[in-house]
Parts: sequence; structure tokens; C-alpha cells
Amino acid sequence: MTVRIGVIGTGMIGQDHIRRLTHVLAGGEVVAVTDTDAARAKEVAGNLKAAKACGTGQEVIDDPNVDAVLVTSWGPSHEEYVTAAIKAGKFVFCEKPLATTEQACLNILEAEVAHGKRLVQVGFMRRYDHAYRALKRTIESGEIGAPLMMTSGHRNPSVPGHYTSDMAIVDTAVHDIDIARWLLDDEISETLVIKPRQNARGGELHDPLMTILRMRGGALVNIETSVNIEYGYDIRGEIVGETGVATIAESNAVVVKTKGMFSGRVPEDWRERFIRAYDVELQEWLDATSKGTVQGPSTWDGYAATVATDAGLVALKSGAWAPVTMRDKPSLYA
Ligand code: NAP
Repeated sequence: MTVRIGVIGTGMIGQDHIRRLTHVLAGGEVVAVTDTDAARAKEVAGNLKAAKACGTGQEVIDDPNVDAVLVTSWGPSHEEYVTAAIKAGKFVFCEKPLATTEQACLNILEAEVAHGKRLVQVGFMRRYDHAYRALKRTIESGEIGAPLMMTSGHRNPSVPGHYTSDMAIVDTAVHDIDIARWLLDDEISETLVIKPRQNARGGELHDPLMTILRMRGGALVNIETSVNIEYGYDIRGEIVGETGVATIAESNAVVVKTKGMFSGRVPEDWRERFIRAYDVELQEWLDATSKGTVQGPSTWDGYAATVATDAGLVALKSGAWAPVTMRDKPSLYA
């Protein structure tokens, strides 16, 4: 079965997902698109075989030819579209964040619980990266014993001028927060954000930042966000267990040795580093959707990430540990 998809938001990631759905993956076809920039939506639709440009996101959701919805508009609009898709009983893939406030996440969660069946997947693509999946398998095998500490490094060569210190937590560390919950299979109990000496390349920006998570089971996670580090886009990850250590390997395919030195490529940006993860993520979503199920990161995961980043913002301002307080987990997400 071909899943007919409606896309809300044809900006950068929306167009990239449309490209992979159209040219890379199997089992999906984009049949409707919309964007607040109507001309952009029309142009994107015009480049597809059988897609129409709709005036609004609600029109996309209501279209009887649309089986499933991809929400790639900007964060504050996610709640409206994800909730509307749930009300229409349609599967919806929502790029992170699920929503930008805790209350908006709870509204989505309540709508899905009332519907009684999972429909939502959130775009935490690291869970589909081969290296993170290998790390997860290593932890689950018991090879390194119970995980005690995790170090996560999130390094960007540079960021655009509008990037703020808050974004280092909400847009950057959020990926490390989700992957820590997933790898350690635990929730976060509190968080602390420490400001080291500032990188002069970042101007006023608090860069780097060290975000510490204390998990409910006691494990500690240390997230470095360095967003002006020039040398490349470098994702680091290491778990220290009771009897061993597991570390994500370098991501380059070739190591060059010459003149007494060895070297390898560091990815230029997140697109290069995670291109395969995005492909696997959307292919698995298509496969599950065509079978009438959803398996990836859930509304609960999206809610947990937003609660944790909200606490991170409190900790950034206060310099003290901030509690991460969540409602009880509905059985739908057990
Ligand atoms: P973007 O380039 O600004 O694209 C967003 C698009 O949505 C723009 O064309 C925008 O139109 C449109 N839009 C905004 N509000 C809308 C609404 N209410 N209805 C319909 N269209 C609307 O941003 P992006 O980088 O693609 O990011 C989109 C989302 O994906 C964000 O939530 C972002 O956090 C997420 N994202 C996730 C990853 C990841 O690693 N998983 C990576 C990148 C982005 P205007 O330009 O006219 O406002």
C-alpha cells in the first residue's frame, strides 16, 4: 500500500523530507502540501508528480486523499496541526519539538489518549542512527554492566546570528536529552546548566554550555553543547558502565595515513552526519503507517523532552539544579 502524505510546512526540513519520500524511500507519495508562504507551497507542489497546494494545514488534514500527515512547520504551530490530525484519526509525523510549551504537549497527549490509539511520531531521528542503535544494543546486552554515566557532545562549527543561549538547550541539547532517555531507558529527575569560559567566536552567547541530567535511577548525563567550534559537526557519545565503556566511533568512512599522521573527515553539518538516520526514520514510519501502527518516538517522548528543556531554561537562569516534574505516564505509552 502506498501511503498518501500531506505535508504542512515546506521550508528547509519539509522540502528535504519531500525529497526523500519522493526519490529515496519506498511506499509513500506526497499528494498535498501547504505553507504560510503560498507561492513556496505552489512551487513545491509543481515539482511533484501528483501533489496539490492547499491553502491551510487544516485543508491538508481534511483531504480524503491524505492518509497521513507530516508536520514540518515552525514549532509553535505544531500543537494545532497534530491535534487536528488526531481528531481526524490520521497518523502524523511531527518534527521536533512536539510542541513548544508543556501545556501544548499535554493537550496533544490528552487528545491522543482520548482517541485511544497511538497516531503520533516525533522526529527524534538519532534513535535511527546506526551508531546510536549499536550503543543501545551494547547497553541492553549487559556487556558493560549497568550504565552509570553518559557523556554526550554536540558540536556545531557555527550557528546563525539569530541563535540564542536558550536555543542551545531547546533546539540543540534536546536531541541529547531524548537520546539519553532512550539509551538509559529512564526519565530525568533534575537538571543543572553550567557556563564554562565563553568561546569568543560566539560573542554574547553562552557557548559552550554543560547541561547535566540526573536520571531517576541515579545515572548522570553530561551534555556539552559547543556551537561555534569551527572544526566541524561532531557528535560524541559515551556510556560508562559498571564493567566497561561503550563509545560511538568516529563517523568517517576512511582513515588516511600519510607523512607520519592519520586523519579522517568530520561531517560539515547535521544533514551530512544524520542523512541516513532521517532516511531510516521516515522509512520505518511509512512501513508502520501502511500497517496501521506507529512505533517511533511518541507523544510521551515529545512531552518529556519539552518538560526537560523547560527545566533546562530555568537551570540556565538560576545556576541551580531544577526539578523535572512530569505527570503520570498514561498506559497508552507503556
Ligand atoms: P523553516 O525552514 O523555517 O520551515 C518552516 C516552514 O513552515 C516555513 O516555510 C514556514 O513559512 C512554514 N510555516 C510556519 N508556520 C506555518 C503554519 N502555521 N502553517 C504552515 N506552514 C507554516 O524551518 P525548518 O528548519 O524546516 O524547521 C521546521 C521544523 O522542523 C521545526 O520544528 C524544527 O525544529 C524542525 N527540525 C528538526 C530537525 C531534526 O533534526 N529533527 C532539523 C531541522 C528542523 P514561513 O517561512 O513563511 O514562516
